Amino acid sequence: VDALQITWSKAPCRFCGTGCGVMVGVKDNKVVATHGDMQAEVNRGLNCVKGYFLSKIMYGADRLTTPLLRKRDGVYDKEGEFEPVSWDEAFDVMAERLKTVLREKGPTAVGMFGSGQWTIFEGYAASKLMRAGFLSNNLDPNARHCMASAAVAFMRAFGMDEPMGCYDDFEHADAFVVWGSNMAEMHPILWTRLADRRLGHPHVRCAVLSTFTHRTMDLADIPIVFKPGTDLAILNYIANHIIQSGRVNEAFVRDHVTFMRGATDIGYGLRPEHPLEQAATGADDPGRMEPVDFDAFKALVSEYTLDMVSELSGAEPDFLQELAELYADPDRKVMSLWTMGFNQHVRGVWANHMVYNIHLLTGKIAEPGNSPFSLTGQPSACGTAREVGTFAHRLPADLVVTNDEHRARAEEIWRLPSGLLPAKPGYHAVLQDRMLKDGKLNFYWIQVNNNLQAAPNNSQETYPGYRNPDNFIVVSDAYPTVTALAADLILPAAMWVEKEGAYGNAERRTHVWHELVQAPGEARSDLWQLAEFAKRFTTDEVWPADILADNPAYRGKTLFEVLFQNGNVDRFALDALDPAYENHEARDFGFYIQKGLFEEYAAFGRGHGHDLADYDRYHQERGLRWPVVDGKETLWRYREGYDPYVGPGEGVKFYGRPDGRAVVLAVPYEPPAEAPDEEFDIWLVTGRVLEHWHSGSMTMRVPELYKAFPGARCFMNAADARERGLNQGAEVRIISRRGEIRSRVETRGRNRMPAGVIFVPWFDASQLINKVTLDATDPISKQTDFKKCAVKIVSV
Ligand code: SF4
Repeated sequence: VDALQITWSKAPCRFCGTGCGVMVGVKDNKVVATHGDMQAEVNRGLNCVKGYFLSKIMYGADRLTTPLLRKRDGVYDKEGEFEPVSWDEAFDVMAERLKTVLREKGPTAVGMFGSGQWTIFEGYAASKLMRAGFLSNNLDPNARHCMASAAVAFMRAFGMDEPMGCYDDFEHADAFVVWGSNMAEMHPILWTRLADRRLGHPHVRCAVLSTFTHRTMDLADIPIVFKPGTDLAILNYIANHIIQSGRVNEAFVRDHVTFMRGATDIGYGLRPEHPLEQAATGADDPGRMEPVDFDAFKALVSEYTLDMVSELSGAEPDFLQELAELYADPDRKVMSLWTMGFNQHVRGVWANHMVYNIHLLTGKIAEPGNSPFSLTGQPSACGTAREVGTFAHRLPADLVVTNDEHRARAEEIWRLPSGLLPAKPGYHAVLQDRMLKDGKLNFYWIQVNNNLQAAPNNSQETYPGYRNPDNFIVVSDAYPTVTALAADLILPAAMWVEKEGAYGNAERRTHVWHELVQAPGEARSDLWQLAEFAKRFTTDEVWPADILADNPAYRGKTLFEVLFQNGNVDRFALDALDPAYENHEARDFGFYIQKGLFEEYAAFGRGHGHDLADYDRYHQERGLRWPVVDGKETLWRYREGYDPYVGPGEGVKFYGRPDGRAVVLAVPYEPPAEAPDEEFDIWLVTGRVLEHWHSGSMTMRVPELYKAFPGARCFMNAADARERGLNQGAEVRIISRRGEIRSRVETRGRNRMPAGVIFVPWFDASQLINKVTLDATDPISKQTDFKKCAVKIVSV
């Protein structure tokens, strides 16, 4: 407590996956100020402009404070108007609809869409309720739109998800290669660490690759602008250069690498009837990998010569050569960084593999400064979406629903009858939207994301599903987003420090915070909503009769009892709460529910390479990087001396894979699903801007951030604009085969576009650019490609 009677407590930032620490100042039950946490290793007291205004995100004038149900003549009606209702009425209507759908169509007609903004307990609770309560794997996070390709490639290459390195690599690297990432705007605090290293050490080099010139390029020694999709060819050229110049680390490759070839011509994740899908010869198993030898890999990449790749990509040959030399030089430690440019890519899994290929061929991996590092966009994309396993095919700690032993382990930890959990992967994000539209998914609950703004091709594919009369859509959010307004029922959500929480950032750091203020009105956390809703169901209503006949002790219990209380009430009693902080959820449920769920979840990973510390320790620390073994966090995985799972004399061990070897994958360049043609003659790339986070539902309500960037713009090359008779600021229609929006031309400013490419950010709900984007996905990861589609620009 300071002289102004402000109480200060620690919390992670609510926004991006960097996971900066902030100090939160509270007075009279209100967050009145925040500042960067000097004790937080991640940001060392700094915040970006979004972090500085965190204190204002909860106080938008249109904050939701009561459940709202569409009604006409006093009863629920899909075409009715929103009216305030009690939680009881809201849950009654929800439960009745869900039970009807389960009775008439079964668990596959029930779904949920969450996010990497769920706290760890919330994602864990949602996963349990969907999989073990309603017996549906139709649960997916919006992280599917964000880093599914990274997660899938980590699993395929190393057998374990998430980076082997950490942010300490910034202070050890001699070169940084930034692929498809505008770090200066999207990860500004990590960018300060990179810039500090580059500017303070003259030998350090920085290469930045992108489809247009942005602020991150300002620091680049090697700036490369390439044609959309051709990064695959550049990556294969680098591998070819390393081989041809004799710089393969032969000992490392001999001892730690296995070569595989991926299935090719694998389609574009469009609807099956689309001609591009029907023609795909490898579509039956797009993830297939077959063993090959080094010579086969060498032969494949040998086609990617400097001339060929320079011609294909449009990149300058001198820069390409310099880039390849950064990796090839045995005396240079290289940190590769990437985000959506790689992940939102119809060959995103391949792109991730290809950067591992380069690090593995040179042995530049899993040690300080040598680090292929995938950045994330959401505060708990790693902690909740990936580690908890909220994807449609996953369980906690990298387990998957298709594996009998994995399900059996989950049933054991969850104290559930054997054979209860469903084995078939559920619908992923884009498939959920298609199933809603087609009337095959009829009960759908969306928490802590704004999918109607975020999803691709949303006016043709997403919106019709939400308004399909056969479907009941529930949205839990703090604000009336476009998604909430398309729902049948809106549930007001507590946000950030209005509840106790835990997030996991991009460097495997788990951090925890206390409830610091009370949520307004009737707003309740997603965890409270999930657990309270679970009280409305008994096992007899939702579980198969044969399972209950074999396990009579479960009969007549509520899902709240079997999934949430479940042995946790006595072990995590209220007296374990810190008396200095309120915890409304724990008091409502009569036990320390967050700690109970966290400790149960931690049981999945302890002893399996995902060890977490005891829950209480996280309240004392500024986060810890897993695996945490004997109280010590792990900075670099897979290497002796850093990783407790690698024993004396083992050196490097990729223990996630049965043979202890990482995969180098031979895959070619393949073109994007859609490219400009005579009619739709220009590329559209979407993304974010510094001032706004994701769909802008929080940052657009902060006056300072709103004024700094009040509306999306169509960033465009001046020559392209002139050719179309457009001046700076002119209003235009951006039209694709799927839809159109209006925006204003921006030929100046922070982004300098090459001819033939426009960039439109997606934060602005009044310019829904995803009406225009294509719903093509990577066929392996099912992640959408938001970076490449063809549009035309027409003057208004
Ligand atoms: Fe740090 Fe990201 Fe928050 Fe900015 S938005 S303060 S970079 S966590």
